[in-house]
Amino acid sequence: MYNGFMACKRKISIIGSTGSIGTQALEVLEKLQDKFEIIALAGGDNIVLLKQQAQKFKPRYVVSRADNNGLERICSDKENDIILMAVSGKVGLKPTLTAIENGIDIALANKETLVMAGEIVMQRARENNVNIIPVDSEHSAIHQCVKDISQVDKLIITASGGPFLHKSTENVTVEQTLLHPRWKMGKKITVDSATLMNKGLEIIEAHHLFGFDYDKIEVVIHPQSIVHSAIEYKDGSVIAQLGLPSMHIPIQYALSYPERFEGIKSKSFSFTEAARLDFEKPDLAKFPALALAYEAGKTGGTAPAVLNAANEEAVYAFLEGKIKLNDIYKITEMALSSHNVIQNPTLDEILAIDAEVRIKIFS
Ligand code: MG
Repeated sequence: MYNGFMACKRKISIIGSTGSIGTQALEVLEKLQDKFEIIALAGGDNIVLLKQQAQKFKPRYVVSRADNNGLERICSDKENDIILMAVSGKVGLKPTLTAIENGIDIALANKETLVMAGEIVMQRARENNVNIIPVDSEHSAIHQCVKDISQVDKLIITASGGPFLHKSTENVTVEQTLLHPRWKMGKKITVDSATLMNKGLEIIEAHHLFGFDYDKIEVVIHPQSIVHSAIEYKDGSVIAQLGLPSMHIPIQYALSYPERFEGIKSKSFSFTEAARLDFEKPDLAKFPALALAYEAGKTGGTAPAVLNAANEEAVYAFLEGKIKLNDIYKITEMALSSHNVIQNPTLDEILAIDAEVRIKIFS
C-alpha cells in the first residue's frame, strides 16, 4: 500500500533495469532522487550496463540473470514500496505474484503477466490490498482518465498501427519490422506492434485491469500516437489522455501515482504543432492477430496463455530469421485451434500449458 511521499522516499526496485522500460525508468528516477530510493536492480544479458547502472544509482543490491533466485529475492524484500516489473515475456509472472503476496505495489510494464494469468493476478492483488498500476501507455491513459470506473461505459484503446499500417506485410524484413514510426521499445513488443498483436495483448490486459467485457473495449488506429487512449462515460462524454509519445510520462506516473512531479518533462505539448489527429478502424483482415486476441480473450480460461506463448515463440523465430512476419499469426492460430481450453485454470495449469505450447510449436 502507498504511504505517500510525505517525509520519506518511496523505495523502489526495477526488474528488467537494462531493457527499454528499465533504462527509461532510470532516466526518470535520475531526476527524482529526492523522491525515490532504489533498493535493487535486476538486469538481463547486458552485464556491462547493469554494472554501470549499479555504480551510478547505488542500489542496495543488484541481481543478474545468472542469479536464479534473484528475482524472487527482490520481490519478497518487504523494504520495497513498489516494484517496476519491466521485463518482457513470461518471466514477469512469478516475480509479480511473489511481490503481490508480500504486499508490494506493482508498476506493471509486463503485459504477458495479465494475459497469461490475469484473473489470478488481479484476485491476489485484491486479497493482498496491492495496487497494480499500469505502465503501458494506453492503460496509463485510461487510469489517468478514470474518476469512477463504475460510470464508464467503454474503453477506447488507440494503436499507432505500426510500420506497416498502409503498407504490405508480405515478405518484410526484420529490420523493416523493427523500424517503429512512433515508439522506442524493445524488440519483442516492436514486432508485436507491427502485427497488432501488441494491441491484442493490450485489450486482454485492459479486460483484467479495468474489468470490462471485450465488446466494451474498442481499438482505434491513431497513427500520430498523441491520444494515448480514452474512456466513454455512460452519458456519452469522452475523456482522452493526450501527450507526446514518450514512455517517460506513463513510467513516471506509475511510480509517482497519485502525485505528479515535473521530473523529466522535456517539452510541453502543443496542439498547433500536432496539427492533425487522424483515426481509423483497424483492418482485421490485414492484421488477423488482433481478431485472434479478441477471440482468445472472449474464450478465456487458458486460451490467452496459449495465444501469448505461441505468439512469443513465433516472434523470437521471426527475429532469428526462421519464419516470415505473417507466419506469426498463422502459428498462433494453429496453437489456439489445437488447444482444449481449461476454464478457471490454476497457476500450475497455466504454466504447464505455457511450457507445452512452447515445446510443441516448432516440433
Ligand atoms: Mg502500449
